[in-house]
Amino acid sequence: MTSRELPKAYEPKAVEERWYAYWLEKKYFHADENAGGAPFSIVIPPPNVTGSLHIGHALNSTLQDILVRWMRMSGRNTLWVPGTDHAGIATQNVVERQLAKNNVDRHMMGREAFVKEVWKWKQEYGDRIINQLKRMGASCDWDRERFTMDPGLSKAVLEVFVTLYEEGLIYRGERLINWCPRCHTALSDIEVEHEDEKGKLYHIAYPLSHDNNIRLTVATTRPETMLGDTAVAVHPLDPRYKDLIGKTVDLPLTGRKIPIIGDSILVDLEFGTGAVKVTPAHDFNDAEAGQRQTPQLARIKILNENAEIAIDIPDILPDVRKLVVGKPAKKARGIIVELLSEKGYLIKTEDHAHSIGKCYRCKTIVEPYLSPQWFVKTGPLAEPAIKAVEDGSVRIVPKGWENTYFEWMRNIKDWCISRQIWWGHQIPAWYCKKCDSDVLEARIGVGVATEGGPMPAPTESVLTIGINAKPIVQKEDPKKCPRCGSTDIVRDPDVLDTWFSSALWPFSTLGWPDKTKELSVYYPTSALITSFDIIFFWVARMIMMGLHFRKEVPFRDVYIHALVRDVEGLKMSKSKGNVIDPLVMIDQYGTDAFRFTLTAFAAQGRDIKLAPERIEGYRNFANKIWNATRFVMMNLDEDFLPNPKVVNEYSTPADKWIVSRLQHVIKEVGFALEEYRFNDVASSLYHFIWHEYCDWYVEMSKNALKSENHSIRKATQTTLVVVLESTLRLLHPIMPFITEEIWQKLPVSTRGKANSIMVSPFPKADEKLINIESERYMKPSMDTNLSLRNIRGEMNIPPSARPEVIIRPETEEARKILEETQTYITSLSGLSKIQISMDAIFPPGASTSTTTWAVSAMSLPEKALDVNTERDRLMKEIAKISKDIEVFSKKLSNKNFVDKAPKEVVEKDTAKLEDFKVKREKLEQSLKALR
Ligand SMILES: [Zn+2]
Ligand SMILES: [Zn+2]
Repeated sequence: MTSRELPKAYEPKAVEERWYAYWLEKKYFHADENAGGAPFSIVIPPPNVTGSLHIGHALNSTLQDILVRWMRMSGRNTLWVPGTDHAGIATQNVVERQLAKNNVDRHMMGREAFVKEVWKWKQEYGDRIINQLKRMGASCDWDRERFTMDPGLSKAVLEVFVTLYEEGLIYRGERLINWCPRCHTALSDIEVEHEDEKGKLYHIAYPLSHDNNIRLTVATTRPETMLGDTAVAVHPLDPRYKDLIGKTVDLPLTGRKIPIIGDSILVDLEFGTGAVKVTPAHDFNDAEAGQRQTPQLARIKILNENAEIAIDIPDILPDVRKLVVGKPAKKARGIIVELLSEKGYLIKTEDHAHSIGKCYRCKTIVEPYLSPQWFVKTGPLAEPAIKAVEDGSVRIVPKGWENTYFEWMRNIKDWCISRQIWWGHQIPAWYCKKCDSDVLEARIGVGVATEGGPMPAPTESVLTIGINAKPIVQKEDPKKCPRCGSTDIVRDPDVLDTWFSSALWPFSTLGWPDKTKELSVYYPTSALITSFDIIFFWVARMIMMGLHFRKEVPFRDVYIHALVRDVEGLKMSKSKGNVIDPLVMIDQYGTDAFRFTLTAFAAQGRDIKLAPERIEGYRNFANKIWNATRFVMMNLDEDFLPNPKVVNEYSTPADKWIVSRLQHVIKEVGFALEEYRFNDVASSLYHFIWHEYCDWYVEMSKNALKSENHSIRKATQTTLVVVLESTLRLLHPIMPFITEEIWQKLPVSTRGKANSIMVSPFPKADEKLINIESERYMKPSMDTNLSLRNIRGEMNIPPSARPEVIIRPETEEARKILEETQTYITSLSGLSKIQISMDAIFPPGASTSTTTWAVSAMSLPEKALDVNTERDRLMKEIAKISKDIEVFSKKLSNKNFVDKAPKEVVEKDTAKLEDFKVKREKLEQSLKALR
């Protein structure tokens, strides 16, 4: 093997490890805030510290890396900030599950020890996702890796919380919130996933107090909540009931009389029974109705924090109480329905589909639950954030997502930010136990009694902080109560919603609240690349917080990418068994092929349907580049030095053509990158590299490479290697590893001063090298060639056979060009002989095809003997395809099938039928040509 010869095959694994280590060692990923130059910055959507790389991360990090590598090569001062999110509930759940294996409960450990345990877990496993991102080739500035709970970011959280509290934008209030009875915490509205469920609708009779013979009928899907009813509502204009407003009903199963109220919002005149039960402590709409009344309706909690029937519900009949207290809500429902039926209150039961909310972390049914929580008042923050998108300060791409953003922001509700868990940023609020009568502390045993003797049960402090408690909110831990001077103070046990700290991510990661150089250089960041499912959780809140605390948007562009689904378009999930594991794909096909696949399918607004075979296809693309490079390197003269000018008087038309085409591709790639049209970047490069460079140009170069004339040889060698080198730089952002490996093997004289492709300049188009004439010149021979290849395919001519071709040009100009380029046609189409003449006569039995430039006829002398066999073959194929056409036509004319089958299936079949018809026509033409 000579020094220039490449190994036969490209081996991704070793290459990837070697170059990633080299880039790290050279600190190419590191951004220097003092280096000057126009900045380009991106903050990574921090993956959960519990996470492992899934296909969504793979797509997300690939697209970011493409932008970052492109901008870095374009000379921008480029920073990509990486990091992870502490992921409150998710991480707490993981560690709790781990402890449960040893029968340990967090309450037995106590808060401090448990949090220590989570940190231990984070040290041990928190790097997993980071290491996996490195395998994707991500060129993040790892020196600047951040974690949402590291000291700097925690300082930012304190600063923001205290400031918003002082501004009146954070408050504590008793509200109905979403409660996960398993996680024992509040959830924000968007942390609740809604699912349809088949349930029942129960019609229950409530007798009027003054005349038990008259009964109002209410319908409910949750009869157990009747124990907490504090009113029955009717429409104030309903002629049947309006006179009853102000009277009372006897609430069944209880000794309670509840008022009949009028409410035109809660009760719809057109639907239902006309009467609605009102349970303000367990239903969001009822809670609002309760507040509309004067005086407001009482709120009776009937469930405890485990979603079991509470012990202290007032006025339940003793026999009912005995049966339901402590029972889970769903079980209690059965008992209540049975009791209602026994006592004659149940009128009827019907099937009823309705939507239920589930915890997005653990899928437990979420309960509307009344409890004191902390809220961010979002209205004043949302206003400027809406304006920023309206006036284009933040550009959302694709634009369609703007509506989603506006709709949510214009109807935004206050954000419940407190969570009753231990892992996270503890709320900086303290209470005085001495002078605050609404603060109670009790110690309860949480140890588990064992057999054979008493066990010293550990105790846990349980704080009850009433809604009237007066919090002391400040950045430093207070030593004593500012009101009475007592040192007997306690901290609010709640932590902040995990999205509170990620809302600050674009500026907290750059050092805020300190005034750092990084902040002044890299904020606002240039682009945010994320998926649509966190537009509300994250994107909207970052815009609100960025504008409030930095008076400047957090990013200029938001690019929302698609979801990666399986090949059928279904969401990937473990239970369906259709998950594509990025790490398996990387091991199998190499990172570059995987990245290229994701990019090629990343069309705006369209979900990606991914199959492993696609990645295999792009592995072949990587191999194609490798093999073309092997060819180039083996065909350079021993003492090769490139011409200073790529195009000179010795360049062939093909040389000029490929150089010209390259300029177009450079422009296309640049435009597409600027508009986040990632799939167009990939397809431009794929087409250029595979079809134009490897298939056409490499083949066309063979004649010149054989030339005895040193200058002609050198001109073509220069073109081969210079175009390849530029192409590698264009491709580098998508396929970083193979491009570096090949680039480093090119002659030093062709690759500039840089020590790595990743820090060499991104190609710029040179208008002077665009050569329309050469492109026009190449067209007739390329088109003719393509048509000849088609005939070969149609006629089943094996690659080894060398047919003869007669060409009849349409114009004098075409004749001239075709004659001059006929050597290309001969070699590219694998012909034995070519004859070009304006008045050519085609031999009988030859196959013909037409282009804009010429009619060509191909014949195979030895094939002529085979006319009969060929005719039989064609007829058999026509028969077969006719059968297919019949089957599909029948299927598609069946109205039942067309109406019921999924749209994609019908479309697919229609396309198939069209294909068959075209193919049959071609086969019939071939058959005709044989005669
Ligand atoms: Zn949960
Ligand atoms: Zn006090």
